[in-house]
Amino acid sequence: QFPFGRRLPCDIYWHGVSFHDNDIFSGQVNKFPGMTEMVRKITLSRAVRTMQDLFPLEYNFYPRSWILPEEFPLFVDEVRMMKDSDPSWKPTFIVKPDGGCQGDGIYLIKDPSDIRLTGSIQSRPAVVQEYICKPLLVDKLKFDIRLYVLLKSLEPLEVYIAKDGLSRFCTEPYQEPTLKNLHQVFMHLTNYSLNIHSGNFIHSDSVNTGSKRTFSSILCRLSSRGADVKKLWSDIISLVIKTIIALTPELKVYYQSDIPSGKPGPTCFQILGFDILLMKNLKPMLLEVNANPSMRIEHEQELSPGVFENVPSPVDEEVKVAVIRDTLRLVDPQKKKRKDTQQHIESFKNKANIRYTYFMCYRCQTLEHVSEATKELLDAGPGDRREYDTPKSAEDALPSLCLKQVFPKYAKQFNYLRLVDRVAALFIRFLGVKGTTKLGPTGFRTFIRNCKLSNSNFSMASVDILYIDITRRWNSMGIDHKESGMCLQAFVEAFFCLAQKKYKSLPLHEQVASLIDFCEYHLAALDEKRLLCGRG
Ligand code: ADP
Repeated sequence: QFPFGRRLPCDIYWHGVSFHDNDIFSGQVNKFPGMTEMVRKITLSRAVRTMQDLFPLEYNFYPRSWILPEEFPLFVDEVRMMKDSDPSWKPTFIVKPDGGCQGDGIYLIKDPSDIRLTGSIQSRPAVVQEYICKPLLVDKLKFDIRLYVLLKSLEPLEVYIAKDGLSRFCTEPYQEPTLKNLHQVFMHLTNYSLNIHSGNFIHSDSVNTGSKRTFSSILCRLSSRGADVKKLWSDIISLVIKTIIALTPELKVYYQSDIPSGKPGPTCFQILGFDILLMKNLKPMLLEVNANPSMRIEHEQELSPGVFENVPSPVDEEVKVAVIRDTLRLVDPQKKKRKDTQQHIESFKNKANIRYTYFMCYRCQTLEHVSEATKELLDAGPGDRREYDTPKSAEDALPSLCLKQVFPKYAKQFNYLRLVDRVAALFIRFLGVKGTTKLGPTGFRTFIRNCKLSNSNFSMASVDILYIDITRRWNSMGIDHKESGMCLQAFVEAFFCLAQKKYKSLPLHEQVASLIDFCEYHLAALDEKRLLCGRG
């Protein structure tokens, strides 16, 4: 820790909250620039909605959402229309202030007119979302899942998911929402920070009882009830990959602005906390993504009134220690160097034994898991056992990874969804000035000209009008006043407009894909021409 500033460059920088240090020129930082902004409730809803416009079926894991205050009239209209077409539909909605956490300021409503559209909603924008009324219950209680996901690299995209997570339970038996129980937070909200204050909260030393359990213990229970746990996992993996795909385009814009290519700079990785709710039919639904998930492995216990003590929480320890350990293993700078010389590998062997011994002792002391560790050894197949018997390196001596790679492993299945990523690449190409995140009118004109998008039906004057209209609207939403110009979402909207104009009869995702191909083709031709001219 460097409370008074850092002098020497480091291999790994572990920032507490966000990426904030522009004086880092090498090594790896545990936060991506812009991630905190990207996972705020409104920004996440917008990013997912863009994907829902393109691929509605693939992105139906996120509840229907509206952004307040700007979409309040739309919310009222759409709900009225849906009620008219299905009079038996009796929805509930959940209102969540943007940037809130730990259930802060959240409330449930039955009708759009119940929204507290007081002065505060103007100053504190929010997301209103369809409430999932039929969650899966265990012991009659609602619960959600916190899964840890490592975004190891943005370009190329590399994503890992932890094999185990946490299940956080409500502390009042669940009932479907009625006007009478809407305000009962211990029944409807699964936040640990809220339920800990309920008299019913159970701290447990075991990982499969109490108000916080491991996700694997829930899976065991579901499996014993005959549920298709494999399908559930594959749905969760697909939810995580699709959500990351929705976030990457804007993250790339932030990245090139804070860490311009061609200059010395660090690379980034980040542990994200995914909050997922299982519906009764076992369909996973995304609630939110946390850029800075709590890594605490202790909880507070009130010994006597007003006297608190931190005590270890075995459930948190079981899940979180493994996540941090594996993250460090995956970003370990020694990993690359280790390949270099045999000598290096030899010296590492010694360290491996020390670290292995330390690790086992640590587990003995804290989790009394030595018997389990032994079981792991015995259960391991012949290949695995060899790994434990004769450790070749530090890594071989550690238990198998809890973080499993899902991307690029399953890239083939998901790459067709990465359209907005390609639109973002066009946007970044025309940004011009390094360090910016917004496109000026000249950049937009150059994009249109270089991609040969203007013609007799679409003059350069119309191009300017399109730019001004869309940019003005996005800037009036008051997202980022620091820079003027067109942000990525505004560019994406303009791009979709152009695609619809050019390829009228196709579905939106095909229109957009066709326009991307068209632009990329013309830009490649231009690059080739410039290269030839340069040589000439
Ligand atoms: P916060 O960041 O304040 O924790 P969340 O979006 O995670 O906000 O919501 C808090 C809790 O509310 C969740 O943990 C979950 O129990 C409940 N919740 C949130 N959204 C929904 C929803 N659409 N349907 C049902 N329950 C929800």
